[in-house]
Amino acid sequence: MKADIQLTGLGIIRCFVGVESYFFHKHTIRAAPVFANITLSKEAIPLSLMITNPDRKMAEIADKVRNGERLSLEDGIFLYESDDLLTIGQLANEVNLRKNGKKVYFTETMSLYFTNVCESHCAFCSFRKDLGEEGSYTLTPEEMFEYVDQHITPNTREFHIVGGHNNHVPFDYYVESIRALKERYPQVTIKAYTAAEIDFFSRLSGLSYREVLERLMDVGLQSLTGGGAEILSDQYRKKMRVEKAGIEQYLEVHRTAHQLGMKTPTTMLYGPVESIEERVRHMLHLRELQDETNGFQVFIPLSMQPTSPKAGIRRRNSAFEDLKAIAIGRLMLDNFQHVKAYFINIGTQLTQVALTMGASDAHGTVVRERISHAAGALTPAGITREDLVWLIKGAGRIPVERDTLYNELKVYE
Ligand code: SF4
Repeated sequence: MKADIQLTGLGIIRCFVGVESYFFHKHTIRAAPVFANITLSKEAIPLSLMITNPDRKMAEIADKVRNGERLSLEDGIFLYESDDLLTIGQLANEVNLRKNGKKVYFTETMSLYFTNVCESHCAFCSFRKDLGEEGSYTLTPEEMFEYVDQHITPNTREFHIVGGHNNHVPFDYYVESIRALKERYPQVTIKAYTAAEIDFFSRLSGLSYREVLERLMDVGLQSLTGGGAEILSDQYRKKMRVEKAGIEQYLEVHRTAHQLGMKTPTTMLYGPVESIEERVRHMLHLRELQDETNGFQVFIPLSMQPTSPKAGIRRRNSAFEDLKAIAIGRLMLDNFQHVKAYFINIGTQLTQVALTMGASDAHGTVVRERISHAAGALTPAGITREDLVWLIKGAGRIPVERDTLYNELKVYE
């Protein structure tokens, strides 16, 4: 009988006979030849001793990945439907090692939220408030300074700023808040506003996307944030009552920012609502724009948090789903340099595992995250630099402190 055998990097032997699969632990390798022909493949590499074809489709995908060929919609759907997380993670790890070696990036970033007042009512959002509602706020520059002065360190590299679509203040409020921060903390990079917020500012001010971005860049904006994409699907946006920029608007804002010379991150908020096909199509939208502009720096899968009563979401994504989002993102987005494991949404322990399944960025210190925690995140709201370094080293990787543009500031060998 002819069988197919693969020794994976995780020390597991997989033996396939027709459509059946048998799994052996490493120490039972001597038992395998009893009913299988073992042949070493030329492609054998230290982490993957491929003997012959384990599964036709997965093997085809593995060949494509190893030959640097682009994966299709069908490939992405197959990977999501497969429960072979180890093979998917290993392929993603190979891609990441080719692109980034063992380096894992992080930065000292501080999250700021100018206002939580919002004209929209997206079903999954637990952050927004109406004007005058208990807990609603809109910070003055002095109030912002007070918070920043309490938490800033000599190594704070970046302010990460997002907030509600507050139409009770003029566009000038959003411009002057950036100007005030930049004047007081000129050494800190300003990464502010999602594409959805830029679209809102355009409606609020009557200016084009380009004009909005140019005004903000004039006073210190250096990068957008990646949020607001959710799932780039009309059906999803209708189901989740996403009352903000649609697919075309989200992409057009990033396109315009890239044309103005800005680099930006991008995200995918995944959970129990959308289909697998919608997730893969989301990635293809991003890949297509990246082909056009090469302006995205990093893809950030965001795991949906459970306590969004209006959206009817009551459970967290499984660890399998979280790791797949990272690994499949790494495999589909061949023109992206980085995929981020966002510990705020998946936890520090899973983040560490994700670093061996395609992630090359562990985000940063954050200080006090509010949006995911308003939606029920049980993770730390921030983390110290020391803990990040420890976490990355624990995964056998090299921590690299970066700035917003991924310039390397310090390598922790
Ligand atoms: S997700 Fe953003 S736009 Fe939607 S309700 Fe929340 S704060 Fe407003």
